[in-house]
Amino acid sequence: MFKMKNKAFSIISLLLVLAVVLSGFLTTESLAQAFSKTNNTHNGKAPKYVFLFIGDGLSFPQISSAEMYLGAQKRTTTPEKKALDFTNFSGVGVASTYDTDSFIPDSASTGTSLASGIKTGNGIINMDAAKKVKVDPITRKLKDMGYKIGVVTSVSLDHATPAVFYANQESRSNYYDISLQLANSEFDYFGGGGFVDPTGTKAKLTNAENVMDVAKKNGFKVVNTKEEILGLNNESGRVIAINPRLDASSAMPYTMDTKAEELRLSDFVKKGIEVLDNSKGYFMMVESGKIDWACHANDAAASIHDTIEFNNAIMEAYKVYEKYPNDTLIVVTGDHETGGLTIGFAGTAYSTFFNKLEKQTVSFEEFDKIITSYRANTQPENQKLVDLLPEIEKAYGLIPASSPKAGANAAFVLTDDEQSALAAAFKRSMEDPKTRKLSSSETILYGTYEPLSVTLSHILNNKAGISFTTYAHSGLPVPVYAIGVGQELFNGSYDNTDINAKLKSITKITK
Ligand SMILES: [Zn+2]
Repeated sequence: MFKMKNKAFSIISLLLVLAVVLSGFLTTESLAQAFSKTNNTHNGKAPKYVFLFIGDGLSFPQISSAEMYLGAQKRTTTPEKKALDFTNFSGVGVASTYDTDSFIPDSASTGTSLASGIKTGNGIINMDAAKKVKVDPITRKLKDMGYKIGVVTSVSLDHATPAVFYANQESRSNYYDISLQLANSEFDYFGGGGFVDPTGTKAKLTNAENVMDVAKKNGFKVVNTKEEILGLNNESGRVIAINPRLDASSAMPYTMDTKAEELRLSDFVKKGIEVLDNSKGYFMMVESGKIDWACHANDAAASIHDTIEFNNAIMEAYKVYEKYPNDTLIVVTGDHETGGLTIGFAGTAYSTFFNKLEKQTVSFEEFDKIITSYRANTQPENQKLVDLLPEIEKAYGLIPASSPKAGANAAFVLTDDEQSALAAAFKRSMEDPKTRKLSSSETILYGTYEPLSVTLSHILNNKAGISFTTYAHSGLPVPVYAIGVGQELFNGSYDNTDINAKLKSITKITK
């Protein structure tokens, strides 16, 4: 009896163990199935007006820092953010961004995933990782179906993110070939930045035809004054609209450096909506490209102001949604995160002081110009950090402990450590950038940036309680927000290639 009981007990135990193990398997199995089954199938009708907004380098930290910055302006005693409007869209998801080379991808590979739905390698525009097979972006398919196509960006029109919507290239650096594909495309509206190499000189081509001439021959109207751009409408035909003021990289200036009377990303979206308006509908891709550049340079304030303007641009599309809710889809995402930005810094622990970033009045790019001019116009033996202190105070609000204003502005007083960091960076910044040789520890301090500017950014960021971990991209996932036809497909967790699959299904692209 005892033996029997013992045996029965053993069998029951064994069955119990088996049940636990099996249920474990089943749970894992069914979870895996649930994960792999993000819904990429839309059964309803296709929307007429489709917008894809891409914040380059934009993930949760870029959005959160902008919202906390705006919230801090309310000067409440408890933490209060002010949501960017697009974060209230009811379709919300998260997308992975890795490419075939790395968890830390670039804009060419991630852009290809969004535009064409395949994974590829770093730097490749709409070709497979082996650079053998060309893939068509959704824009070409939509054009064939009768949609008009718009591509808008705050950086140059031949940059990686816009390029994946009209070009196929082995390398994102083939600027001339990329712009030639733009000029030969059948698309309808290109707006924002200019071109990096429209004459082929950087590609060392001789007798290359100017891309602007090719575009004009192909029927594009090319405009670059505020008056011409504001005068565009849906009878203007096919248009390339270039911002009147461009930086050295043919990009629009940072939002924080843009004067009140100058055009912004939102203006190019608003104008695009007018130019593209037609009964068959349109697809517009809009990139805010300098969120990425600001975060590469660890300039939190420049990233925040461009992110706020990105929201303004999205709100132009939202007006279309409000008018035609059953015919519009707006999708907002990032291609990858840049800078490894986070809310928090070792020196400020659990506190943040976002209001301190309000003191920054220009981007690092503008401050670099001040440094360059001082270096060029001051004899090396006369170069002193103290000469630049008034400019530093004007641009970043930072003041030395010896300043008569120090008492009333304690939060902006440079600590001894910060003073020494500035002195060391100033010394390096006074050397010719072409021959400047940095040690490996200095490369971690300054990246490839002007040592003084990047140090000022770090000091102000850290006083505000935020910090960056890299001058490159990071492997963070990106959020996805959607509103309109098919928005529910964007709920959940999926890969960036799924965003493409969802867009194809929603717009009834079958091949
Ligand atoms: Zn980047």
